Amino acid sequence: MSDTADIIIIGGGVQGVSLAFHLARRGVNVVVLEKQHVAAGATGRSSGLVRMHYDTEVDSRLAWESFQVFCNWKELVGGECGFTRTGFFQIVSIKQEEALKANVAMHQQIGIPALVVSAEDVKRLAPAFMTDDFRVAAYEPESGYAMPSDTATALMAAARHYGARLVQDCAVTGVTEAGGRVSGVHTSRGDYSSPVVVNAAGAWAASINRMAGLDLPLTTWRHDTMYVKRPAEIGLSHPTVIDFQHELYFRPEGSLTLVGLEDGNPLGESPDNDADQARAGFVERAIERLCRRVPAMEGGSLHSAHGGYDGITPDQHPLLGAAGPQGFYLDCGHSGTGFKTAPAVGLCLAELILDGAAKTVDISTLAPGRFGEGKLVGGSYQNLWK
Ligand SMILES: Cc1cc2nc3c(=O)[nH]c(=O)nc-3n(C[C@H](O)[C@H](O)[C@H](O)COP(=O)(O)OP(=O)(O)OC[C@H]3O[C@@H](n4cnc5c(N)ncnc54)[C@H](O)[C@@H]3O)c2cc1C
Repeated sequence: MSDTADIIIIGGGVQGVSLAFHLARRGVNVVVLEKQHVAAGATGRSSGLVRMHYDTEVDSRLAWESFQVFCNWKELVGGECGFTRTGFFQIVSIKQEEALKANVAMHQQIGIPALVVSAEDVKRLAPAFMTDDFRVAAYEPESGYAMPSDTATALMAAARHYGARLVQDCAVTGVTEAGGRVSGVHTSRGDYSSPVVVNAAGAWAASINRMAGLDLPLTTWRHDTMYVKRPAEIGLSHPTVIDFQHELYFRPEGSLTLVGLEDGNPLGESPDNDADQARAGFVERAIERLCRRVPAMEGGSLHSAHGGYDGITPDQHPLLGAAGPQGFYLDCGHSGTGFKTAPAVGLCLAELILDGAAKTVDISTLAPGRFGEGKLVGGSYQNLWK
């Protein structure tokens, strides 16, 4: 005898639990099957940046819809997401200035609080920053970061409140089909039957796709981060920053600063590799880049460093929608940027599965079929993870 559900979600990361929340709210009998525990994958290692600055409209719209949930979390979800407003700067090279201005204009059209500021303005707002190597930046005064594990835990708790079930320590080992449509899954804890199965398995999603006979361009992306204890002269805090000049991002968290690099993120490794430690050489490179942007960080000290794995596609955009056997859906390939969009992606996918189309944000450009049709998603920065 197998357990039954209207919809099975494979993976209890922020994406899977967000979808569970939106489906359960609409009365769907949903079960989340998670091989470890909630936020055990990329979500638990995420840097949690919450900003809307992107070079494609679909990303900015998903981030903007999600941002409004992060800001009104208690009323809309309940529990804690730890959203902290720090202000956000996107720093670009002189070559990318025109693209930045066009992107901010696009954000303003959507209604996102964003503006173009001068390097002098950046210096006024963040006196510790070195601002001699760029002329303009995008500024989002309302943006910041949230706590990814808290976010996922709160979404799952809210989903359970509406009747969703969570089964942890439960690895999906096979996807079953009957007559060209999915009929359920085999797991390490028995079989589940359902006419709809959603793959939200993060860096492990390609192996779930293979269980459903799907071969899509989806691999893994490794990303390391470190926490540095800030020296007193930097002050109590600083804005969150993505810095294309130095292929770097950083944000505050209490007396610490979290740092990641845009380059040196290997593709195609096993997501089961050890990520409790950062790879050799990462900390040295990250400290050197951070000190170029914030020279006083030379007086800082290393607190900790580790890594994580996400799924990534060739255009570094997620796979959202139906693919393979009837009833099989993808919510994966979030390519190192799927935390801040999770509240809206879950809502859009719930609309797509239940109503036939997403209405909150048009996510049709992110449909899994785009690779077969040669319709990759691209933006003006062409600043992809390396
Ligand atoms: C170090 C790091 C920093 C990041 N920083 C940011 C950031 O600042 N902002 C941002 O927006 N994004 C960021 N990201 C990206 C973001 O964290 C991810 O895109 C997002 O967390 C993906 O969520 P997910 O639910 O798809 O995947 P995951 O959180 O990886 O969840 C997938 C889950 O599926 C489970 N699973 C896998 N296989 C099976 C199976 N066979 N059966 C059952 N369960 C299974 C796993 O155990 C896991 O819990 C970062 C990612 C990393 C790694």
